[in-house]
Amino acid sequence: MSFTLAIIGRPNVGKSTLFNRLVGKRLALVDDQPGVTRDLREGAAKLGDLRFTVIDTAGLEDATDDSLQGRMRRLTERAVDMADICLFLIDARAGVTASDEGLAEILRKRGRNVILGANKAEGRAGEAGLLDAYALGLGEPLRLSAEHGEGMDELYHMLRPLAEEFEERAEATAPVVDLDVSDDEDAPDHAPSAARPLQVAVIGRPNAGKSTLINKILGEDRLLTGPEAGITRDSISLTLDWMGTPTRIFDTAGMRKKARVVDKVEKLSVADGLRAVRFAEVVVVLLDAAIPFESQDLRIADFAETEGRAVVVAVNKWDLEDEKQDKLKELRHKFEKLLPQLRGAPMVTVSAKTGKGLDRLHAAVLRAHDIWNRRIGTAKLNQWLEAMVTAHPPPAPGGKRIKLRYATQVKTRPPAFVVMCSHPEDLPTAYTRYLVNGLRDNFDMPGTPIRMFMRSQS
Ligand code: GDP
Ligand code: GDP
Repeated sequence: MSFTLAIIGRPNVGKSTLFNRLVGKRLALVDDQPGVTRDLREGAAKLGDLRFTVIDTAGLEDATDDSLQGRMRRLTERAVDMADICLFLIDARAGVTASDEGLAEILRKRGRNVILGANKAEGRAGEAGLLDAYALGLGEPLRLSAEHGEGMDELYHMLRPLAEEFEERAEATAPVVDLDVSDDEDAPDHAPSAARPLQVAVIGRPNAGKSTLINKILGEDRLLTGPEAGITRDSISLTLDWMGTPTRIFDTAGMRKKARVVDKVEKLSVADGLRAVRFAEVVVVLLDAAIPFESQDLRIADFAETEGRAVVVAVNKWDLEDEKQDKLKELRHKFEKLLPQLRGAPMVTVSAKTGKGLDRLHAAVLRAHDIWNRRIGTAKLNQWLEAMVTAHPPPAPGGKRIKLRYATQVKTRPPAFVVMCSHPEDLPTAYTRYLVNGLRDNFDMPGTPIRMFMRSQS
């Protein structure tokens, strides 16, 4: 898939209708499985001969914990940051509303390629709204009817040249994945940039040291005195340059504590942690070395896996440990036992207080992000599949051997694969696990959640 298109717009303008039209049945490949965030829907889209990823800010109407406006803004920002091209929809029948204007402003500021679509424009009812739409300052509106499939040709012709541009760029910079993956000097396409900062959440039980850690990353005590030049901050995140990496850090508890918005004794609730996970690409689970892997830590780490986020475990207060080697062994053992679904996720020891180990944490986060974004070429993937099947053929229930025909990576963030096979319903989950673990080992993808779906050919 060559590029990512985000459908942006306030509730009820027809985003889901358009999303469904672009994705059709193919959504079933990726979306009915855990690992796709509930806030942003993602699907494999097809329009003419174009193949791309489409994301839609679904789930907005479920807003309970926050004002709808704020939530809509943040989700939109996140979708825009993930996208190569934004399709901004307004409802041509309703005309331009204040919400539309708010979102248009975000797009003008952040979006690189924006297409303005005036939806529900079938018939004559949309004429006035179409004229209104020019005032948004996003160019000429494209007349669409998601419901009736009108304007799809025009959409195709607008996307086509942009798609070509992205394809050329991807070819020029495509990370080549070999069986022996080595660290590449060239920044791959998904590398964090100012326009698309790395999104990190630091979560962990109260007193694990989250605020101390973030303060240390920022440089001592800057949070206490408010935002400084070069650091932008909203209610739950701050954007900064972390050792050369544009990074957005989510830290609900720390923000609250330092901003003194809420009573000091209020600590991170599980709900806050879960919210932070949804926003993040990489989740840093911060443990207190003295009391690691408590139920709250496990719950949030498991949630991060279920939501398909890359996870890095950081063991804090390492300065207080005497028997460091033994302790580390014990922690790794516990980790493998308690969180087998995160097999091989990096575990680094840090001291938020002294700053020791923060460089390793930075490296681990970058690497986890890189793996999470990794795309494996189809040829390599099928070479590997053949080797796996030869080494350990799938079972033959009732004397008929299950055939694995072909594997393909259907998405990244996290990596998801579809394996075409005969009688997928008969393939034991242990065999799927064998394949997933094999992928991890062969393509050097420890830790990150990997999705693998078995599909029959039909
Ligand atoms: P979302 O909240 O932006 O995802 O909007 P939906 O896709 O759920 O659509 C909201 C409503 O608008 C639904 O009742 C749709 O059937 C309707 N709708 C969507 N597209 C069109 C369209 O092109 N024309 C008309 N008349 N209605 C549409
Ligand atoms: P939060 O609730 O997770 O934000 O935790 P805080 O950052 O408020 O830290 C809780 C307590 O642990 C404070 O007293 C910190 O000074 C202490 N602390 C945090 N990190 C370290 C560390 O690396 N070493 C030591 N010795 N103490 C730490």
